[in-house]
Amino acid sequence: MITAVQKAPRITSDGAVRIAAKLYGLRVSAEPLPSERDQNFLLRLITSHEESPSSLTPSPCFHPEGEEKKSGYGPEPSSGDGQFVLKIANAEEAFEFLELQNQLIRFLAASKIELEFARIVPTKTAADIAKIKDENGNEHFVRLLTWLDGVCFAEVKPHGRRLLASLGRSLAQMDAALAEFDHPATHRFFYWDLRNANIARELTGLLPHSRRRLVERFFGEWEKIDWSSLRFSVIHNDANDYNVLVDESEQRVNAVLDYGDVVYSATVCNLAVALAYLMLDKPDPIGAAGQVVAAYHETYPLTGREIDVLYALAVTRLCCSVCYAAKQTRCAPDNEYLNISNAPAWALLDRLSDIAGDWPTRVFRYACGLPVVSEKYARQRRPSADLIEERKRHTGPSLSISYQSPLHIVSGSRQYLYDSAGRRYLDCVNNVAHVGHSHPYVVRAASEQMAMLNTNTRYLHENLIEYAERLTATLPEPLSVMYLVCSGSEANELALRLARGHTGRNDAIVVEGAYHGNTSAMIDLSPYKFDGPGGRGCPSWVHKVPMPDVYRGAHRGAGAGKFYAADVAEAVRQGGDVAAFFCESALGCGGQIILPLEYLREAFAAVRAAGGVCVADEVQTGFGRAGEHFWMFETQDVVPDIVTLGKPIGNGHPLGAVITTPEIAASFANGMEYFNTFGGNPVSCATGLAVLNVIRDEELQLNALEVGEYLKAGMRELQDRHALIGDVRGAGLFLGIELVRDRETLEPADREATHVVERMKERGILLSTDGPLHNVIKIKPPLVFSRVNADLLIASLDSLLKEDSAVLRSQNGRNKKARRFHARPSDLN
Ligand code: PMP
Repeated sequence: MITAVQKAPRITSDGAVRIAAKLYGLRVSAEPLPSERDQNFLLRLITSHEESPSSLTPSPCFHPEGEEKKSGYGPEPSSGDGQFVLKIANAEEAFEFLELQNQLIRFLAASKIELEFARIVPTKTAADIAKIKDENGNEHFVRLLTWLDGVCFAEVKPHGRRLLASLGRSLAQMDAALAEFDHPATHRFFYWDLRNANIARELTGLLPHSRRRLVERFFGEWEKIDWSSLRFSVIHNDANDYNVLVDESEQRVNAVLDYGDVVYSATVCNLAVALAYLMLDKPDPIGAAGQVVAAYHETYPLTGREIDVLYALAVTRLCCSVCYAAKQTRCAPDNEYLNISNAPAWALLDRLSDIAGDWPTRVFRYACGLPVVSEKYARQRRPSADLIEERKRHTGPSLSISYQSPLHIVSGSRQYLYDSAGRRYLDCVNNVAHVGHSHPYVVRAASEQMAMLNTNTRYLHENLIEYAERLTATLPEPLSVMYLVCSGSEANELALRLARGHTGRNDAIVVEGAYHGNTSAMIDLSPYKFDGPGGRGCPSWVHKVPMPDVYRGAHRGAGAGKFYAADVAEAVRQGGDVAAFFCESALGCGGQIILPLEYLREAFAAVRAAGGVCVADEVQTGFGRAGEHFWMFETQDVVPDIVTLGKPIGNGHPLGAVITTPEIAASFANGMEYFNTFGGNPVSCATGLAVLNVIRDEELQLNALEVGEYLKAGMRELQDRHALIGDVRGAGLFLGIELVRDRETLEPADREATHVVERMKERGILLSTDGPLHNVIKIKPPLVFSRVNADLLIASLDSLLKEDSAVLRSQNGRNKKARRFHARPSDLN
C-alpha cells in the first residue's frame, strides 16, 4: 500500500504538456489534479491566439514508448469542449488493470445509465494506453480521457432531497449494470477493499491515543460481518464526494469518476463507501444517508442482510481512511490529497460514536420500506377468521372493515403495509401516515418523550411552546393562536365554539357531501352523514350549499367558482344567524373535489360581510399534501379565520389542532376554562414537532408536488385510453379518479370503482372509493410516495382495466339509475 503511494509518478505540469504534444498531438496547458497513487492533469487545448512556451519543446525527462507513426487517430478537436484528463499511472499499476478500466468505462457508457462517461482518447498511433519513462527511469502508463463537466459533490451545498436521490439512483444503476461485468483484473487483493479492512486495523497504533478505542470499536463491528451472506460483483469502490460530479442546475449526479479502485467485492460496499463520504459535515448524517439508501433500494433492491451491514461498512471505510492517512502522512507529508477527508472524517466518527447502535439500521430499513422492528418481537398472529369473529363480538357493528376479504395488517414502513403473511402492499390511501408509516424519527421523538414525561397542559413545558411557534409559523398572519386537541372532530367542535363565541350567533353553512367529524355536533355539520343511511337530515341550524363540483355540478366552465360562491352568499342571506362557514379546502369524502378558482375568496367575503367567520377544515389536506402550498386553502389565495387540523399532524398519533386569530381567541376567553386532558401533552407536541421536521428535512411538500403532477399526468394518459375514467383531478398528492359508465350522462360507475379497488388490492395496491356516488377512487398516499410507485400504480390500473374490461362492461346496465348521497359503511372517512 505504502509503496504504491511512494511510487506515484512525479511529472511536472510542463512534463504533462509535453506528453500531450508528443503522444496525442495536442497543444495544451496543464493543471495538476489531486490523486493518491497516480497523477492526473487537467489539459486545456490552446487556441491559436494563446501560446504555451513549453508546449512543443521535447521533454528531457520522459520518453514515450511503443509509438508508431500513424495518422487519423488522436482526439477530435471538439472533444470534451477542448478539455481532457491526462492520467499517469503509478509505476506499480499493471497494464491489464488499466485495460480493465478502459473496458469498464466503455461497458458502462453502453449500458442504460443516466450518467455521462468520459471517452478514451487514443494516441496518434491508435493506442488506448501508452508508456512513458520518468527521470528516475520508472515506467508509467498514460491514458487520456475527455473531460466531464460538473461540480464536485463535495462542493455543492446543501445536498437536497433531489440530489441525494440522484446519487442513490446513479450508484444503483451502476451496480445493477456491473452485475453483468467481469474481468480477471478485478479479482485482486486491494487494501481499499473493505474485506481487507484488517490491514487498516493493524495501523490503529499510529492513531492518537484518545481515538484508538473509538476506531477499534467500529472495527469490532466490521469483524462480525458474515461476508458469505452478501452478493458479490465488480464495484467502483470509490464514489467519494470528489469523484461524484453534479449538474448543479438540475441537482443531479451526472458522472462518477476514477475507476482506479475498481475491485470484485461485496456489492453493498460500493454504496457503503459513498455513504461514508456523504455523511461528512452533515447536520444529520444518518438521515441524509437514509435518503440515498431509499433511492438506491428503489432502483436496485438491497437484500435484508446488505441493509443490516451497510452502516458498519460505511463506518469501516471512515476508519480505514483515518488509519491509512495516519500511515501515509508519515511517508508522504507533502501529499495534500491524503489529508483531504481526514479532519471531517474524525469529526464524523466522533459524532457517530454518540449514535445508538441500532439507530442507523432502523433508518436504513425504513428507507427501504422494510418493517423496522423485527417480526420476532411481534405477538403471536391469529387467523383472520378468528379476528373477524371476535371483533364482531366485542366491538359495535357500525365499525366497518375495508375489503370483501379484510386485511390483517401487522406492520408498516414508509409507503408500504405488511399483512400477517408478510405480503407487502403499496399504500396509496392512508394520508394519516403522512411522512411514512412508522417513521423512525417520529417514533423516536414520541417514545423518548413518553419515557420522560406525559402530563396535561397545566404545567409549563417547552414542547408546547416550541410546537406552537413552529406550527403557527406555517400559517399566514393573523393566524397565530393554537389550541391542541386529540382529533379532527374535536378540532371542528372547538372551531364551532370559537365561531359562536366570537359572533354571538348560532348557525353554520356547510357544503354538500362534506364531512367534519364524528361527534353529535359534527354529524349535524356533515351532510356526508346526515344525508346518508341512518342520518336524520339537515338540522335547522345548518345551511347546506351545493358542492362546487366542476365535473358534474350545475356550473362547470370558467367562472364556476363565482357561481358556487353565490350559493354561499345566498345561504348567508337566508340563514340570517350564521356564525360560521365550514369548508374543507378540498373535499375528501365529497369525492376529492378541488375547489374552483375564486370560490373561497368570494364565499369568505360574503360570509364576513354578514359578520360570520370562515373555517378551513384542513384535516385531510394540510401539511404539504397540496404540493404547491403547505396548506390547501392557500391555493385559493385566502386567509381563513380558523383552521382545523388533524389526521397527518401526528403521523398516526391522536392529535388535532385549531389555529385562529388573537381576536377570536380573546372572544372565547369568557371566563370558562378550556381544558383538554390529552390535548397539548408533551408527547403529542414532540410527535407533532418531529412530523414538521421530517416534512422539512425530506422536502416532502416538493415531493408531493413533483410526484403528484407526474401521477396526475400518467392518470390523464390512462383517461385517454379508458372510457371508464371520466375525470382525473387533484393537487399534489391528493387525487381523485372519477369513474363513469358514460361520459355524456356521467352515469356513476360505482360497482366498477369497488371492483377496481378490490382487484388492485389483489395486486398489492391499496386504494379506496368515496364521493356521494361512490364512484371516485381516492389517492392520498404518505408523502414519501415516489415516481416508481406512481409508475406501478398507473401500470397496474392500466392492465387491470384492460384485463377486466369484460367484467367492468357487464356492470353497465345493472341498476342504471344514478343514486345520490347513498353512503355505505365501507366508505373511509
Ligand atoms: N374533517 C375532515 C375533512 C375529515 O376528513 C375528517 C376525518 N375523515 C375529520 C374532519 C374528522 O377527523 P377525526 O376522524 O380525526 O375525528
